[in-house]
Amino acid sequence: MTTEVASVSDCSVHSCSFNHDGCTAFAITVGGSRDHASCSTFIDTSATGGLPMVLAHVGACQRTECSFNSHLMCGKTDVKIGSGADTADCLSYQPQ
Ligand code: SF4
Repeated sequence: MTTEVASVSDCSVHSCSFNHDGCTAFAITVGGSRDHASCSTFIDTSATGGLPMVLAHVGACQRTECSFNSHLMCGKTDVKIGSGADTADCLSYQPQ
């Protein structure tokens, strides 16, 4: 079991309402569909979201097949989110 909480070190999804020079959500959840992992906290809306600072962490990860996943938490230190198969993919996802 990991005792660290992974930080989101980079997010290049500028259409997300939480992105203000980085992710300002307190924590994101990584989920996605069968063939790729993505940020389930991503939202493209007119509302401005998040805190007045960049400090996002991965609060939960649903991808139990990822090699960094431990007890539905992420064991990586610097998680990167960006476009891939979907708008906001987890670029750090590494299936076993
Ligand atoms: S896509 Fe996810 S990681 Fe990126 S800013 Fe939005 S909530 Fe944060």
